[in-house]
Amino acid sequence: MALQKMQLILARKQAITPSVTEYVFRRDDGQTLTFTPGQFVNLTIPTDNKPARRSYSIATVPSDDLDNTAITEIAIAVSPVEGGIATRHFDAMQEGDLIDAMGPAGRLVFREDDKPKRFILIATGTGVSPYRAMLPQIRKRLAEDDRLEVHALLGVQRPSELLYGDDFVKFMSENERFHFHACYSREMPNTLQAYAHSGRVQVCLPELDLTSDNDLVYLCGNPQMIDESFAYLQKIGFTPQQVRREKYFSGK
Ligand SMILES: Cc1cc2nc3c(=O)[nH]c(=O)nc-3n(C[C@H](O)[C@H](O)[C@H](O)COP(=O)(O)OP(=O)(O)OC[C@H]3O[C@@H](n4cnc5c(N)ncnc54)[C@H](O)[C@@H]3O)c2cc1C
Repeated sequence: MALQKMQLILARKQAITPSVTEYVFRRDDGQTLTFTPGQFVNLTIPTDNKPARRSYSIATVPSDDLDNTAITEIAIAVSPVEGGIATRHFDAMQEGDLIDAMGPAGRLVFREDDKPKRFILIATGTGVSPYRAMLPQIRKRLAEDDRLEVHALLGVQRPSELLYGDDFVKFMSENERFHFHACYSREMPNTLQAYAHSGRVQVCLPELDLTSDNDLVYLCGNPQMIDESFAYLQKIGFTPQQVRREKYFSGK
């Protein structure tokens, strides 16, 4: 899919956890955006010097009509970085403001010929956005293949930071071979959550009995989590091709 240049207009913004804000844009030209769930957009952040470019995964859940992944609203979930150029710009953005964008881009997507017994989708924080966008595809894959299981693991510090958690919990209640795991590194919930685990997301991996024969693993978010998880997976026999990675490093 060719990269498109476009201007986006901020339709609304809302805090979705105490630290993460969701920004919802529309294209200024009124067109839809066709994307493959899992992809991101590049946004151009004006600065006093050279504009900075930053990437953000598309969190919008497209319609269940999979022949049509054209979306009218482009949602991104932004986690603030202290002193960050984009962070400062987003904070100041108001509804109706414009921003230059390019996309969609990225290869953290499902491929037609992938037929693992299990998809293991692992994220920290806003790294869960691509998996949220994949939910309709996951529903279709589960319906088409009755031996397929899908596990989504989201690592955050505490329950209040479980962004989009409700979407995954609801999806799990509707799709019996979909399993959601919330991994809390600092604070466990006060009330019982059957899907809660204590510890960083990479600490939860051994509980899944992963094998390179059965599983295809996706990793998205914090670079340290990705490096540690990847090292573990290689140690137990996974090849780089069996692990799809997207690190949320910061552009310059
Ligand atoms: C493919 C891709 C997809 C991404 N998707 C998302 C997304 O959906 N949501 C999202 O919030 N971010 C995402 N990111 C990260 C995002 O692009 C920016 O890097 C991030 O928002 C910080 O930008 P900034 O301009 O505010 O900070 P910068 O001005 O780039 O950084 C300020 C300072 O903080 C340091 N820093 C930057 N990031 C971090 C960090 N995470 N932890 C600690 N220190 C840091 C920098 O080294 C620098 O010293 C993605 C990155 C990539 C490559």
